[in-house]
Amino acid sequence: MPSAPDHDDARFMRLALAEARAAAENGEVPVGAVVVKDGRVIATGRNAPIDGHDPTAHAEIVALRAAAQVLGNYRLEGCSLYVTLEPCAMCSGAMLHARLARVVYGAADPRTGAAGSVLNLFEHAQLNHQTVVQGGVLAEEGAQLLRGFFKERRVNPHPLREDALRTPDERFDNLPGYPWEPHYLSDLPALGGLRLHHLDEGPADAPLTWLCLHGNPAWSYLYRKMIPVFLASGARVVAPDLIGFGRSDKPKKDGAHTFTWHRQVLLEFIERLDLHNVVLVVQDWGGLLGLTLPMEAPGRYRGLLVMNTTLATGEVPLSPGFLAWRTMCAQNPEFDVARLFARGNPQMSASESAAYNAPFPDRGHRAALRAFPPMVPEHAQDDGAAVSRRARDFWSTEWKGQSLMAIGQQDPVLGEPVMRALHASIRGCPDPLLLPQAGHFVQEHGEAIAQAAVRHFGAAAPR
Ligand SMILES: [Zn+2]
Repeated sequence: MPSAPDHDDARFMRLALAEARAAAENGEVPVGAVVVKDGRVIATGRNAPIDGHDPTAHAEIVALRAAAQVLGNYRLEGCSLYVTLEPCAMCSGAMLHARLARVVYGAADPRTGAAGSVLNLFEHAQLNHQTVVQGGVLAEEGAQLLRGFFKERRVNPHPLREDALRTPDERFDNLPGYPWEPHYLSDLPALGGLRLHHLDEGPADAPLTWLCLHGNPAWSYLYRKMIPVFLASGARVVAPDLIGFGRSDKPKKDGAHTFTWHRQVLLEFIERLDLHNVVLVVQDWGGLLGLTLPMEAPGRYRGLLVMNTTLATGEVPLSPGFLAWRTMCAQNPEFDVARLFARGNPQMSASESAAYNAPFPDRGHRAALRAFPPMVPEHAQDDGAAVSRRARDFWSTEWKGQSLMAIGQQDPVLGEPVMRALHASIRGCPDPLLLPQAGHFVQEHGEAIAQAAVRHFGAAAPR
């Protein structure tokens, strides 16, 4: 039975509990610590491994480092450390190295506790000459914080960041031709807690995975005519919404969006899903970003299906059509996305066009729409230009997969002239498929393209 805690022990543990609560507010597992010398707190620490990308950033380590800085000495002789949860092996080891006089912890940790629960580093006479350990001080408070935190995580696994917006789910209810379940990730390092949406349909062990990347101002809805064709061939389809688009979270600030950051999110996304036998399907920004990805992990890719897009290397001027589009976006930042799609696609129903407005209920949600056009690398030093040049060299000299190009000939922005130039950079790419009716958003005519692609990348046929 733990005896009633000493008055000072309870006081210092309450300060450690305050640190634990602050950790929880940052989305970190709530554990807090304080270091005390001569009856005074000289350092505090709270859990921060996620925020710091640091597996060692446990509350105790953070507090030990701060205390050693204060004392100007890596030995913390005469100091006591208070922590809300039984320390793990790493932290217990660090405490022994620091030669603490005393360690006081709150709740026991039956999973990783190294002060008696799983093992007890402190009882090894070879390791420990001086540190006294006591557990169970305000244990219920510490345990309660942890239980509350994990319960909240179960109910709300992707809490919304303060600097971001999330389009309400009901705006995506019953969209025509888009019956698929949402999937979410928020723990890729580059996301910093932002929630990324993607579709993931078909068998995980399918012989081919079609990775479909959309551009601005579209979202995965753009692939709804192609996805069923891919699935019918027995393949898997993965289609993310870029951050700022579709069902993904939307940073409030335009400046949050950079070429390098979006590219990094996609690289981490592909690694996390561990995609193999990928046919990369790209158009618009899906290509500007997506064409720079396979060179980082060529073994993952089998094929490329490329529609109206470009590699913006900063070496040749951007097309007049693109410059006109960029000017239009700057002058009419509130332009109607649905009307833009309807104009180039008279075959679409009104509710299909309206689905392209679903992600953007108001101007606050439109930061990506404002940020993307000026983000296309224009000059050699612009963010993304160097990596695009490297990608061009990869496609022209190193690419070993199959390729297929489809060109929407009505596109004034990234149409046939731009695509012919790109074609010349893709090693072994056969003559392009020409779609005289299709505009920039080629995927709106995607059923026929997908059928041709399934034949072309044949191995996806059911076995
Ligand atoms: Zn630890």
